[in-house]
Amino acid sequence: MDADEFRQRGKEMIDFIADYLTNIRTRRVFPNVKPGYMRPMIDVEAPKYGESWENIFKDIERVIMPGITHWQSPYMHAYFPALNSYPSLLGDMLANGLNQIGFTWASSPACTELEAVVMDWLAKMIGLPNDFLHTNTDTTGGGVIQTTASEATLVALLAARKEVIHRVQDQFPYLSPAEINGRLVAYCSDQAHSSVEKACLIGLVKLNLVPSDDKLRLRGNALRQAIAKDKENGLIPFYLCATLGTTGACAFDNLVELGSICEREHIWIHVDAAYAGSAFICPEFRHLMNGVELTQSFAFNPSKWMMVHFDCTAMWVKSSTALHRAFNVDPLYLQHENAGVAIDYMHWQVPLSRRFRALKLWFVIRSFGVEGLQKHIRNSVQMGILFESLVNSDDRFEVPAERHLGLVTFRLKGENELTEQLLKEINSGGLIHCVPASIKGKYIIRFTVTATSTNADDIKRDWNIIQNLATQILHPLDNLSPRQRRITMKNLHDDFRMSLVLSNTPLSPCLINGSFAAILPSDTSHIYEMTHELSQRALKNSLLPISRRRRTKNDSTHPTISKQMSIDCWMINNKQDHRCLTSSTPSSLSISRQGSLDSRIEEILENNSMDNNNNNNKTNDGFTLTPANGHTEHYGNIPNIIKE
Ligand SMILES: *Cc1c(COP(=O)(O)O)cnc(C)c1O
Repeated sequence: MDADEFRQRGKEMIDFIADYLTNIRTRRVFPNVKPGYMRPMIDVEAPKYGESWENIFKDIERVIMPGITHWQSPYMHAYFPALNSYPSLLGDMLANGLNQIGFTWASSPACTELEAVVMDWLAKMIGLPNDFLHTNTDTTGGGVIQTTASEATLVALLAARKEVIHRVQDQFPYLSPAEINGRLVAYCSDQAHSSVEKACLIGLVKLNLVPSDDKLRLRGNALRQAIAKDKENGLIPFYLCATLGTTGACAFDNLVELGSICEREHIWIHVDAAYAGSAFICPEFRHLMNGVELTQSFAFNPSKWMMVHFDCTAMWVKSSTALHRAFNVDPLYLQHENAGVAIDYMHWQVPLSRRFRALKLWFVIRSFGVEGLQKHIRNSVQMGILFESLVNSDDRFEVPAERHLGLVTFRLKGENELTEQLLKEINSGGLIHCVPASIKGKYIIRFTVTATSTNADDIKRDWNIIQNLATQILHPLDNLSPRQRRITMKNLHDDFRMSLVLSNTPLSPCLINGSFAAILPSDTSHIYEMTHELSQRALKNSLLPISRRRRTKNDSTHPTISKQMSIDCWMINNKQDHRCLTSSTPSSLSISRQGSLDSRIEEILENNSMDNNNNNNKTNDGFTLTPANGHTEHYGNIPNIIKE
């Protein structure tokens, strides 16, 4: 393809995208394909000779579109929004054309400087305190664009870890960083996103999931108790990830209460406001972040609700020095004469290279203006309020958790199984897409207002569909005898929680982190069989198997040596357990630990059933090391350094 053809094809592609976005209501929002649908549609081998663009272009509609979940559709209500906008798309088009790799100031001065300026704009737009601004010379604060909220959570955790190791070593110079690391404990609420758990796994620190209150918020008292207990056990509290707008029901942790505790305890507070952060552009929602001045870092995703398409996570810190300490490596070839004067964003993130993402952010803020962005946010919230009022007007339904912003939770009154059945019908029809969550034992459906273009007619249409499906489910039950009803409910019960496993929403009894699959229509696919088995064996009586196990670990009498548990290490442990060998699937040993989730389902099943049987095997009497020289050392209770 030469420049002339690119001019032509580029314009055609723009037309294709504009047509797609304007006609998106005509498409089924949730695809109707089975795993593996694509392979037979594409040649087995890569083409030896280049193909014509016509040929390639045709395959967008033939191969790709049948398997697309239409995230830009007004009928998309699953997860959180992931919006784009035309100025944003243009920004990335330019960024792609320039293709900057702006790790240092010198590697692309414009890339670095625009990011610093626009991040200051955005900080002021959402009402962050001055301490987070690049222009504030009293702090080393500033903003940086990270790829995802998960990365921001990790970056903050690694910076906090470096700080606490420094601090403790000052006091106890004989302790090595590794020894200190082994005692660190991080906190978040039981409603927090799974990325906090992931960050702790990477950082090799313990995580204490603190119970939220009846409104699903993390409160000061609960945190205070958790900290006191952990300190008594010789652990060092160092990091709290507070959530503003939890993924399950959009609850807000109480930063005022948490902040004063953490200040006293020298705990770094990172705020994860991935979805809700965009709302703070509107002053009327800023009360939800009261106490933010007490935190050390803050992140939200303009890539969710602010119409800057993925990827774009805005993160601010009060102390970029802390990031430098955690990440600074300075090989000679990256040094430049302005180092130390200008920002080198490579010290603010995990990777070296970085895209010129500030462009799309800049374009969006300028072309909508603060007022335009406020209007967009307020419209989404209005649509949420409308949907909530529709749910409340039908007495077969209830709204089980307070609505915040554009997320409404709803369910059918009565057995959880009815609501799950409703969700399955909603998703298998493909006209609306929602995902479930489980809050305080109730199975709920999350309805998020997503698209920029969503209007009242869209919301009424969706509600109409939901009401009709509810009638289809409830009406036959009306005419049943109590005995027949029990049998019907039992059949529903056998499938129960399947959709939680498959959609892998937070708060679910899922064993698996990371997005996996959406809800499959119940009559198809071998995945269904496997996950059915999984849910039956593993989840029958336990809502949060992973977190519960972790809490037990923290409670043990020798918590300093308890291992960080994840599904991965848990599997490995079990494999070393001899009883695992006698299991019904001898091949399980040869299943590699790597590989996609799908390839690991059997392994997960296997080990999950093992775990239930083997709990008494675990010992709490310190641990024993056998080094290569055969000299065995026993490590008992390590002296407590934190109590005094
Ligand atoms: C969406 C979301 C995340 C994950 O965001 P990524 O950018 O995909 O890592 C984390 N936390 C919360 C509260 C979220 O809503």
